[in-house]
Amino acid sequence: MDYKDLANAIFPDAKDITYYEEKYPERNLKEGAIVTRFAPSPTGFVHIGGLYQSLIARKLANQTEGVFLLRIEDTDQKREVENGITDIVQSLDRFGIEPDEGMISETEGKGNYGPYRQSMRKEIYQSYAKYLIEQGKAYPCFCTPEELEEMRAKQEAAKIRPGYYGVWAKCRNITVEEAIEKINNGENYIVRFKSPGREDRKIKHHDVIKGNVDFPENDQDIVIIKADGLPTYHFAHAVDDHLMRTTHVIRGDEWLSSVPLHLQLFHELGFKPPKYAHIAPIMKNDNGNKRKLSKRKDPEAAVSYYDEMGIPKEAVNEYLLNIANSNFENWRRANKDKSIDEFELQLNKMSVSGALFDMVKLLDVGKTVISKFTAEEVYENAFNWAKTYDKELEEMLQDKQYALKIFGIERGNKKPRKDIAKWSDVKENIEYMYDEKFFAKEQEYPYQVIHEKEDVDKILDLYMEKYYNENDDKQQWFDKIKELAGELGYAKEVKEYKANPDAYKAHVGDVSTVLRVALTGRTNTPDMYEIMQVLGKESMKKRFEVAKKK
Ligand code: GLU
Repeated sequence: MDYKDLANAIFPDAKDITYYEEKYPERNLKEGAIVTRFAPSPTGFVHIGGLYQSLIARKLANQTEGVFLLRIEDTDQKREVENGITDIVQSLDRFGIEPDEGMISETEGKGNYGPYRQSMRKEIYQSYAKYLIEQGKAYPCFCTPEELEEMRAKQEAAKIRPGYYGVWAKCRNITVEEAIEKINNGENYIVRFKSPGREDRKIKHHDVIKGNVDFPENDQDIVIIKADGLPTYHFAHAVDDHLMRTTHVIRGDEWLSSVPLHLQLFHELGFKPPKYAHIAPIMKNDNGNKRKLSKRKDPEAAVSYYDEMGIPKEAVNEYLLNIANSNFENWRRANKDKSIDEFELQLNKMSVSGALFDMVKLLDVGKTVISKFTAEEVYENAFNWAKTYDKELEEMLQDKQYALKIFGIERGNKKPRKDIAKWSDVKENIEYMYDEKFFAKEQEYPYQVIHEKEDVDKILDLYMEKYYNENDDKQQWFDKIKELAGELGYAKEVKEYKANPDAYKAHVGDVSTVLRVALTGRTNTPDMYEIMQVLGKESMKKRFEVAKKK
C-alpha cells in the first residue's frame, strides 16, 4: 500500500486537480493587470479597515484593468451570522465599491472563477488535499484534543516552542497501513500538511508594502482539512488565490507572519505564489496611546457608523485615500475638482506602520465634499439619510422646493458654504429656516455690540418700514442697510468707524448682526441676503415682531 491508497481512503470521490486547473485557467489580462480580492468572514460586522482594503483593491484593479473580487471566507461556521454576506455586499455597495466577481447575495455569485464562498468549495479543497496526500506531503492526524492539550502543556512546562512539528508531530510517522486501518475502524482524524521546513533556516521575502523581511522557515504541520471536512484559512488561501488567479494578496498585516507557511504551501502545491501586500491597521489615538481601532471600543470601527452619522461615502473614500498615500493631499491641492478615481494609488507608498484615524479631519473632508454638491444632490442625500435616521428631518424635507432654496444658499459659487460635514448636521443647520420650528423654540437672541432693546427695536422697525424691499438686488440691499445705519447714527462703513471710533456707537456690520440675530437667533449664518429672499417678507415681519417681544 502507498500514499495513493491512503489518499483514496480519505477522499475517495475527489476529482483530479487537473480538472480544476483547466476549469480556472490563467486569466487573459493585459500585462501588469492586478487581480486582487477582499476576503472577509461573514461575521456581521464590516470594519472600516475592511472598507479601506477594498477601496485600495478596487482602485488598483481599476488602474491596471485588472479584477477585484469578493470572496467570502466562511470556513469557521461557528462565527457566522445570518445575512452576513448580504451585509458585506451592501456595505461595499453603499461606498460605491462594486467587485467584478464574487458573491452578490447570500448564495449567488458572479464570475467564472467561483464559487466565491468557501463553504461551497469543499470538493475543490479536498482534491488538493488528496493531491498532497498522494505525494506524501500531507497526512491524517488522529491525535485527540486531549492529546494535543497534553502536548501543549508539556511544551509550555519545558519552555519550548508550541505546536505540531518535528518530534512533536506524532502522526507524521504513522505508516500508510496503520493509518488506513485507523480510518477503516472509524477513528476521527483531520488532515495535516507535512512541512518540509526547518526553523533554523531563514527565508527572505519581499512584501510590496513592508519591503524586505526575513523569517524563519515554517516547520509546523498545520491542519489543512478540519474534522468537518472544511479547510483552514491557510490552505483555503493557497488553493483559492491560486485558482482565482490572484496576482496580489492585499490583506491585513496580522497575516504577515504567516507568509513563510503560505509560501511553503504554494511551493508544495506546485503553485506560483502571488505578491503580498500587508496593510497596517488603522490606528486611533487613545489618550496618547496608539492602538488599533477596536470593534468593541470604537463605534467608528464599524462602517455602519458612517451611514448612521450620514458621513457621505465620497468623504469617507477620500479620507481613506488620504490615509493610504501621503501624496494624496498634495494631489488634491493641485486637482481640486477631480474625482478621486483619477488619483494614481501606489501600494509601495503605503505606510508601513498604522496611520492614525482622525475624525476631525474626516469631517473636514466631509465639509469640502458637500460644499461641492449641487443643492439637488444635498437634498437627495439628506432626504435619503433622513428617511432612515431622522423622521423629523424627513418631514421638513417633504417640501422639496423650499428645501432646495435653503440648500441653494451660497452654493455653486467660488466660495461655497462649508457648514455641513454630514447629513446628521443638516437639521440643526436649516431648522431656523422653518417658521414652525423657529417659533416653536424659545430663542436666545445673542445680540452683540448693539444689544439695548431700544436700539434693536429701532433697527428692526425702521428696516421693515423703510428699507427692506424684496425686489432689491444684493447691492441695493446692502446699500439700504448702510443707509439705515447712517440714519440711526451708526457708521455706514467699517473703515469710517475704525478711523473715528468715538464718533459712532457702532457700525454697519453691527447693524447687520442685529438683523441676523433677530431673523435666525444666530450670529453666524450663510449669506443674509439669500436668507431673506428664501424666508420672504411675511416670515421676516413675524420674526422681527417676536424678537421685539423678548
Ligand atoms: N478571512 C481573512 C480575514 O478576514 C482574509 C485574509 C485575507 O485577505 O487573506 O482576515
